[in-house]
Amino acid sequence: MSRRARILLALFCLVAGAIVNIAVAWGCMIYRDAGRTESRHLDELAALEQWRNLMPDVPPQEPNGDIAEQFGCREVLLFNSKVAKNSTSFDLVEFATNISVGWPMLCMSMDFVRTKDSEYFRSAWLMPRDIAWLGLSRNEALPVRPALLQSVFNSVFYAAGIWLLIRSPFETRRRLRQWRGLCERCASPIGSSALCSECGHCLPSRTVRT
Ligand SMILES: [Zn+2]
Repeated sequence: MSRRARILLALFCLVAGAIVNIAVAWGCMIYRDAGRTESRHLDELAALEQWRNLMPDVPPQEPNGDIAEQFGCREVLLFNSKVAKNSTSFDLVEFATNISVGWPMLCMSMDFVRTKDSEYFRSAWLMPRDIAWLGLSRNEALPVRPALLQSVFNSVFYAAGIWLLIRSPFETRRRLRQWRGLCERCASPIGSSALCSECGHCLPSRTVRT
């Protein structure tokens, strides 16, 4: 494989890896089981920090943070009016969460606030219409705020997998031919020359039979 082809293939794998990363993250979001979650209490300072990020204009509230984690998805409850004390400043807000998705690392996130009248999303893309075969309904929210390092890590992870998938059949064939004493390009028997007599391929010296 020429150097130019290698670089092109690497670029293709990186782009494909980035696309797979987003698809996996959104898949984790769409197919998460909202009912089956294990919650644990969030460190109060961390919850306060997240609440400030979510609603910088609203004075901080004593948060009631719980974390719900499952495969490729983490949801942090930032505010819950049912258990909040002194919630006078947030009369309209019923609860607020931050949702992160992605695998192997959480790489995309969004904020979600439910008020008495409506639901608000931040850093989310709302599906414009139903896509039945994907099980997607209109206005389904998909996170679009990337975490840079995690996104790069996931993309490279998938790119490496795609590279292996594409390259391994060729690599196996090449090694098999080498092992059987054939030209690795055209599979004709190797003579004593350093070049294949059939296709002119330059043969690695260790495979040339004398
Ligand atoms: Zn050959």
